[in-house]
Amino acid sequence: MTGEPAAQPLLQMALRVEQDIFVIRQRGREVAAVVGLEHQDQVRIATALSEVARDLLGMSGGADVTFHIDAGADGRHHLRADLAPVTPLPAGHYQPQSGAVSRLVDTLGVATVEGVTVVRMSRRVPANAPIPTPERLAEFRSELGRIAPASALDELTAQNGQLIAALDEVRSQRDELAVLNEELAETNRGVLALYNQLTEELEETNRGVVALYAELDEKSAQLRAASESKSRFLANVSHELRAPVTAIIGLGRLLTDSASDPLTDEQGRQVDLIRSSAADLLNLVNELLDLAKAESGRIELDLSDVDLRPVFGQLRGTLRALATRPEVELVVEEPSAPALLRTDEVLLGQVLRNLLHNGLKFTERGEVRLRAHRQGDRWTFEVSDTGPGIAPELHDRIFEEFYQVPGATRVGGTGLGLPYARRLVTLLGGTLQLTSEPGRGSTFHVSLPVGGA
Ligand code: ADP
Repeated sequence: MTGEPAAQPLLQMALRVEQDIFVIRQRGREVAAVVGLEHQDQVRIATALSEVARDLLGMSGGADVTFHIDAGADGRHHLRADLAPVTPLPAGHYQPQSGAVSRLVDTLGVATVEGVTVVRMSRRVPANAPIPTPERLAEFRSELGRIAPASALDELTAQNGQLIAALDEVRSQRDELAVLNEELAETNRGVLALYNQLTEELEETNRGVVALYAELDEKSAQLRAASESKSRFLANVSHELRAPVTAIIGLGRLLTDSASDPLTDEQGRQVDLIRSSAADLLNLVNELLDLAKAESGRIELDLSDVDLRPVFGQLRGTLRALATRPEVELVVEEPSAPALLRTDEVLLGQVLRNLLHNGLKFTERGEVRLRAHRQGDRWTFEVSDTGPGIAPELHDRIFEEFYQVPGATRVGGTGLGLPYARRLVTLLGGTLQLTSEPGRGSTFHVSLPVGGA
């Protein structure tokens, strides 16, 4: 079908006298409408036609005008008008493409077709416009044949109407543009104001953050200094206290010695009281000293490849003496071989002893159990008991210095054991965690890296 419309012209007309210009203009618009050009484009091509027709009438005494519809290389259709001058134009004499008229159409120029020079113009048909069928075109041709060409006055009236409509549109577009420009200027002012405000707020916030950081630095320096002096104070005081307390214990022992003068029963009881209080005090002083040492980083690790089995054996032996309640069984499970771990044997022993000791202190019946197992590159030690358990909200607090669960059975102690144990485990490169609930016993988990801290 694409070849057929190109072969046969849509319409042929002759331009000979002034009035033909109006007819060509009118017909051009009608053809453009039939092939699907939009209203604006119909007016544009009709205007271009009448301008070129006027030129050719003057230069060559007229032309034969033909309209075609072509399929373009871009797959779109084009309405083409060829105006062949009745007397040939000298080459290069007429160059319509250089004028303002050329802007009304897609292409406008002088072409030579089979030796004949023609002025050719074309306009693209919108992609969504259906191309008229051959039947529609034939119908259109006969329709055009029937309609008598309008008079020049009619066409002028139509042209005037179109001009007014075009002017109206230009005016309304200009008004719209003015409104848009005003809105744009308004928006710009708003954006600028917002930008300025944001910049100011940002600067303000920045100043605040800088001040906050300075304060934070100062506070953390103060905190560090306070913590250092606390550790120094603890270390000094406990060191100074140790000698007199040890002396009191020694003197008490001397007083009750069989070689000394005998004491009355009451005196003996009081001296025993002094000795046991002094022993408690020494215990507290020693724990304070240990903690101060750990906190000030004065504990040096002595790493070696430790076999856990002898360590467990020793714990079993030393703690049996503390397991005085017949209702409580102490179970130290034998770790499965090879039970090797690179760590500080003394510190590990202190941690486990501390946890087992707590278990034995707080458990009234049931058992206290130590077991170890290896998982990947870590060893986990679990110290579990069937004691009173600890409420979840206290799990962090019991690792604070001097904290003891209120209302729990008073069994002595200082509240320093767990913080010290956690310090040591951290030094060894591990973690110390707790799972416990009141009434369900407690389990402390020590996790250490196999390869050492
Ligand atoms: P101390 O045992 O000298 O009081 P710790 O720091 O070792 O100090 O423990 C702090 C507190 O945590 C204890 O006073 C006790 O209230 C609680 N606690 C520790 N271990 C257990 C346990 N196995 N079962 C129940 N409560 C425990």
